Amino acid sequence: MKKPSLLLFVLLTMQISFAQSSPVIQEILNSVNQDSVVYFVKELSGNVSTVINGSPYTIASRHYAQPGNNMAIAYIKQKLDSYGLTTTIQPFTSTGNNGNNVYGVKTGTLYPNKKYIICAHMDDMPSGTLAPGADDNASGTAAVIETARLLKNYESPYTLVFALWDEEERGLYGSAYYATQAFNAGDSILGVINLDMIAYDSNSDNVCDINVRNYGNSLTLSSKMVQCNTDYNIGLSTTIRNPGTTSSDHASFWNRNYGAILLIESNNDFHAAYHTINDNLSYYNIPYFVKMTKLAIATFCSLIQVQSLPVELASFKAEATASSVILTWSTSTETNNRGFEIERSSDLASWQTVGFVNGKGTTTEISNYSFTDKFYGTGIYYYRLVQNDFDGTEKAYDAVQVNLNIVTSYSLDQNYPNPFNPVTTIGFSVPQTSFIRLGVYNLLGEQVALLVNETKEAGRYEVPFDASQLNSGVYIYRMEGKDFMDVKKLVLMK
Ligand SMILES: [Zn+2]
Repeated sequence: MKKPSLLLFVLLTMQISFAQSSPVIQEILNSVNQDSVVYFVKELSGNVSTVINGSPYTIASRHYAQPGNNMAIAYIKQKLDSYGLTTTIQPFTSTGNNGNNVYGVKTGTLYPNKKYIICAHMDDMPSGTLAPGADDNASGTAAVIETARLLKNYESPYTLVFALWDEEERGLYGSAYYATQAFNAGDSILGVINLDMIAYDSNSDNVCDINVRNYGNSLTLSSKMVQCNTDYNIGLSTTIRNPGTTSSDHASFWNRNYGAILLIESNNDFHAAYHTINDNLSYYNIPYFVKMTKLAIATFCSLIQVQSLPVELASFKAEATASSVILTWSTSTETNNRGFEIERSSDLASWQTVGFVNGKGTTTEISNYSFTDKFYGTGIYYYRLVQNDFDGTEKAYDAVQVNLNIVTSYSLDQNYPNPFNPVTTIGFSVPQTSFIRLGVYNLLGEQVALLVNETKEAGRYEVPFDASQLNSGVYIYRMEGKDFMDVKKLVLMK
């Protein structure tokens, strides 16, 4: 690491601001799980074996020239995938080697083109076959993965990028490639938090360094981090280093005048096993590591204006009957929920709105809903819920599939329309080839019409019933199949 110039003195202006801790961020910080984040470190540093692309693998080294480097990238990708992010492996060529960054993206609800990045380098040292790199930099990598895990059930107006850079140790190659691409594409990057070596504190003084220089909005980012340490009682002792080191990936963003900061353990308490085969978990100060992870997450969440999902969907399913699809779903919490649009698609591309069900507004109790889509289609269809807030924002939830070719049980549907005049439709389904009899009767039990009286193959059916010869009143229709009988009422209103 380069030494900061002693000739530069920086005046820090004191900002008076009121503590503004957010209950949502506090809830996220309470969910930071030591076991989870430490386990990511164990997997990344070869302390335990993991499963990558379906096979067991122990990551002995993440050095750019070792096979474990690409395996670690695959491990990170599958983690980010599992948190619902859109992941990319970004290849780049550097002197004599092909590197790969890996990142996951969560698109912003209001400003999809404005990004915040939380990142760390995933490659390590030394160059042999054994390089655990637990502090440098499985620690930062694990904290980024933990952030992605926790934000799975939250959203932001801004687009979030969870990035792990390759070939930092060779000279910031991966982050330089990303930052250059972003700059050339005119990307709006509102802030970058870089985590590199965040688990070593030999004297437990809780001192950490926030490295910053006056590029873009970097000074705002460092002030925010200092403020978050206080607002959320993280318990670290923050030192601002300005001009900060350029020896990690945030400097690639400074070079493009993007705002960026580096959170790192204290430069006055340098890691005893830095860049050796002994950089393993035994040097960890785990409580310090958890605090550093929390400070990074608190700052990131504060910058991105993290929000709870307006509605937490607990379940959603679709079931086909003869002439309709019955959707049932439940929510565990709702905030400002006007209701749900129900949409149907045959290709997951174009969606048709088929109904609307009012929401409960704001509640923390479980709410159950159902909706019946009268629909006679056959084939594969998809349904999804689009939740509407009272303030006009919408969120589409993941679709469920329903196969309208497969019939698993008999059913006799309510006629549609009902009451009717003079024609209505009766739907029914048959799970296996059998003789079907479907008749209509008056209240004295006399048959007034016989609609089906033949062998039917498995499938969904509908038959029209024309009652123009009958008087107004209540009638009964009855369906009989193999080991099946059901009756329903219909109302003729002339
Ligand atoms: Zn490092």
